Amino acid sequence: MRKIQMVDLQGQYQKIKDKVDTQLQEVLNSSAYINGPEVHAFQKDLENYLDVKHVIPCANGTDALQIAMMGLGLKPGDEVITVDFTFAATVEVIALLQLTPVLVDVEKDTFNIDIEALKKAITPKTKAIVPVHLFGQCANMEAVLDIACEHNLFVIEDTAQAIGANYTFKNGVTKKAGTMGMVGTTSFFPSKNLGCYGDGGAIFTNNDELAHTIRGIVNHGMYKRYYHDVVGVNSRLDSLQAAILGIKLPLLDGYCEARKKAADYYSKAFASNKNIVTPVIRDFSTHVFHQYTLQITNGQRNELHQHLLDNQIPNAIYYPVPLHSQKAYADERYNEADFKVTNELIDTVISLPMHTELDEEQLKFITTTILNFIK
Ligand SMILES: *Cc1c(COP(=O)(O)O)cnc(C)c1O
Repeated sequence: MRKIQMVDLQGQYQKIKDKVDTQLQEVLNSSAYINGPEVHAFQKDLENYLDVKHVIPCANGTDALQIAMMGLGLKPGDEVITVDFTFAATVEVIALLQLTPVLVDVEKDTFNIDIEALKKAITPKTKAIVPVHLFGQCANMEAVLDIACEHNLFVIEDTAQAIGANYTFKNGVTKKAGTMGMVGTTSFFPSKNLGCYGDGGAIFTNNDELAHTIRGIVNHGMYKRYYHDVVGVNSRLDSLQAAILGIKLPLLDGYCEARKKAADYYSKAFASNKNIVTPVIRDFSTHVFHQYTLQITNGQRNELHQHLLDNQIPNAIYYPVPLHSQKAYADERYNEADFKVTNELIDTVISLPMHTELDEEQLKFITTTILNFIK
């Protein structure tokens, strides 16, 4: 059996090596490392894939979130609601911009924003909601957008884990994750579903004015060369990364399909075990399985984590500490009773190896090892 990896970037690269090596050599020959033609070409390809008017590439997914918030003109003290159960980048940029993060609990079965908790958290100071499409499945966007509309709030979708997922509204309209709110952001970190070979990110919007504002912000606040109208940042996707992404984007749906196949194998294997809860997929969203995350409900999560490591099966706890309990984000405003689900999930979740190169022999070994341990 091939060695099991949490993410198999090497195996995936080997399948596209010739194309990637040729394209990278072309960039090297041209020496157009910044803003080369590959960046513009990828931007257009991604606009087409997502069916969105504007894609603005940038340096990483954290920058994408920060720049989206800067572009919306949010001001210190404005409250931004996001989830307690996500990667810290989401809340980090809110705090960095001196906005006030308001963390809310998630749904136990989907790990995504809890709509009732969201409603409860809205105050006159609330300006924006950041739903995170965690682990590859869209949050309940129909409800989020209705609430945002009612209270006149911006919706910023953190799509770092869900690029390629589809959301279907009650009226039958289907949209890509990241294109439903005012603005969406993603990350091309190597292990993400659409990953480059370094750092990268992008911002999506259908709003012409916001796109224009953001294009200036990513480039030192310049709309005309050496005229700085607003305080900006330097955040670029470089040409080498764009060249890689240009090759991988047409493969993204196939990559998502391969992940789904592995997920289906796992879920089928664990279906009748009463101590293992498998991922729940809502009717309104597809799931692109950035992570395949189980809940172990018999108290043996930590033992399982160790048992798998002892058997050379990598696995991870996403996430071990709720954001409201992190030193950097703890705040006396928070009340433990409001985070019942997140407080429970941190003790039960475990994410299994998930990538495009898992084969049946590996999946069988992983599932039997787990089922022999969790009875
Ligand atoms: C990865 C990730 C980010 C940050 O992306 P980087 O490119 O690493 O900066 C933001 N939000 C979520 C939910 C992520 O998973």
